Amino acid sequence: MISYGRQSINEQDIEAVNQVLNSDFLTQGDMVTTFESALCSMTTADHCSVTNSATSALHLACMALDVSTGSLVWTSPISFVASSNCALYCGATVDFVDIDYHTHNISIEALRIKLDALDKAGRKLPDVLIVVHMAGLSCDMKAISELSIQYGFRIIEDASHGIGASYQGKPVGACEYSDLCIFSFHPVKIITTGEGGAVLTNRKDLDEKIKRLRSHGVSRDPDLLSCTDPWYYEQFELGFNYRLTDIQSALGVSQLTRLNEFIEKRRKIARQYFEMLPHEHFELPNVGGSELSSWHLYIIKLKCADNREASRRSIFSGMREKGVGVNVHYIPIYKQPYYQRLGFSSQYCEVAERYYQGCLTLPLHPSMTDQQFEYVVDSLRELVK
Ligand SMILES: *Cc1c(COP(=O)(O)O)cnc(C)c1O
Repeated sequence: MISYGRQSINEQDIEAVNQVLNSDFLTQGDMVTTFESALCSMTTADHCSVTNSATSALHLACMALDVSTGSLVWTSPISFVASSNCALYCGATVDFVDIDYHTHNISIEALRIKLDALDKAGRKLPDVLIVVHMAGLSCDMKAISELSIQYGFRIIEDASHGIGASYQGKPVGACEYSDLCIFSFHPVKIITTGEGGAVLTNRKDLDEKIKRLRSHGVSRDPDLLSCTDPWYYEQFELGFNYRLTDIQSALGVSQLTRLNEFIEKRRKIARQYFEMLPHEHFELPNVGGSELSSWHLYIIKLKCADNREASRRSIFSGMREKGVGVNVHYIPIYKQPYYQRLGFSSQYCEVAERYYQGCLTLPLHPSMTDQQFEYVVDSLRELVK
């Protein structure tokens, strides 16, 4: 099966991990800070905390912004469930803002209308907005940031797909228009640490809180402690063990040196798909534009027709039968049984529904060969004939 995404591990990556395995510290050693510094340099963000997953990174990002019972958090329905679960962990209420059909990102227009309606009705406005850079294409952060100033909410970027992408000439993760930005290092994402994530921010106060919360809420900082005994530590908050190991961090440092190579290859495949796929049957993601995607996913949409849902189903099954691991990203979060029990209607967001009926993810990853690429294109052409 040609999978829709997978890791690329080379000898350099393996050697980096081996070195840590032969060293004194497997966790809480130097590699963690080395990885964090490398992520800061790459993104230009001032602070970085790596975590054992993007899900924990999102949880800590919400906690850093004091999301708790009574808070309202908005996000996009077309994302992985973790983008909204993180707010539920904190006891907050979650709501969804519909997407833009073409970018697959949160719709600025829908966001503006929803904010304006609630504001006029004197209802509660969101405390935090979690935006998702779908497939690695940055949301329009400047417009979102302007709305955040007007309506007074905080912004977390879920850039699980977005490491290596850029927005207005700056790397995603620079946090120019957000409070915090998170990355995922799951093997299917752009670079990997096995499992892993990171939170980037330009705010020192948020970073300090995140670093404490990822390690049980405990501090050994002499300035904070009430006692000078050398063995002393104090727990200030209810934290977690969300740490990334040195083994994983070493892999991350090595993978990060290969980021440009990965992104180049992904962009090349995306351009080739745009040239080779039948435009009469599918809407293809736009390759140009100033917002340079990292191309975590290549998502095509069947053009609207009466039998669209059935066609997608048969193309999906046909591709899988031919050994092409197509996928669907994502089922709108509010359709999940857990979210249905929270009271969301099954057709809650109109555009997300239309998107979900016709979307299909094609294989795209740096270790994909030309033969595999051609096989995917030929298989798809055959099925739509
Ligand atoms: C993968 C993903 C996550 C969760 O990442 P983990 O590192 O697996 O916890 C969160 N949000 C989005 C959009 C993702 O794609």
